[in-house]
Amino acid sequence: MEMKIVGFWGAYPEKNEATSCYLLKHDDYSLIIDLGSGALSRLQNYISLDEIDGVVLSHFHHDHIADVGSLQYASLVQKQLGKRTRKLPIYAHQDDKQAFQTLNHQATVGTAYYNGQSIGPFTFNFLKTKHPKPCYAMRIECEFKSIIYTADTAYFKELEDFSRGADLLIAETSFYKGMNGQKAGHMTSEEVGKLAHAAGVKELWLTHLPHFGDLNQLYLEAAEQFSGTIKLAQEGLTWRNN
Ligand SMILES: [Zn+2]
Ligand SMILES: [Zn+2]
Repeated sequence: MEMKIVGFWGAYPEKNEATSCYLLKHDDYSLIIDLGSGALSRLQNYISLDEIDGVVLSHFHHDHIADVGSLQYASLVQKQLGKRTRKLPIYAHQDDKQAFQTLNHQATVGTAYYNGQSIGPFTFNFLKTKHPKPCYAMRIECEFKSIIYTADTAYFKELEDFSRGADLLIAETSFYKGMNGQKAGHMTSEEVGKLAHAAGVKELWLTHLPHFGDLNQLYLEAAEQFSGTIKLAQEGLTWRNN
């Protein structure tokens, strides 16, 4: 299993970068987790678009889905060129039926996800998060390794059990220590460090980063709570299970 960061900004992308987007691979199977603004372009540094087997969306905020429409056009062009024979599945929750419907297109098909679902070689479990729009954290397992993606959320206790013992925790870190993330539905660096510690994960990535302050401060504040490996998101950052 391999996980790579394609985009990591919250809200909007910085110059030549992207908001939330991750590339998950095992053998020849490739999934995109969230497809934010700028992601479709950055993604092609790592994979050709006709090699994508599916997309999994955490929720319907723009910084996680902005490039879905463009991917639908790309899939249609590939279909017309004979490079894609099946509709591309886009997995998402159905809490917002209207938003879910937009995933159906001539070349893509909206597919509701559920706990214990196998998608290619991966097993997915989901946990509804604390966020203004319905959003789901993901636990992804493959060959006895596990990755947690918190998606967007305020801190809540159930995240600890959900993340228990994970090999990699990819945690949204929208705010600095001392700020209040609860109301906005986001976490601080301190909370993310506490989560990693409480869940006993092996490695922590800080992502969904803010556009203010010194980002290295986020790292230092998380490290006050968690003594394992911590990495600050950057494009191309990759985790492998070997
Ligand atoms: Zn977001
Ligand atoms: Zn959001």
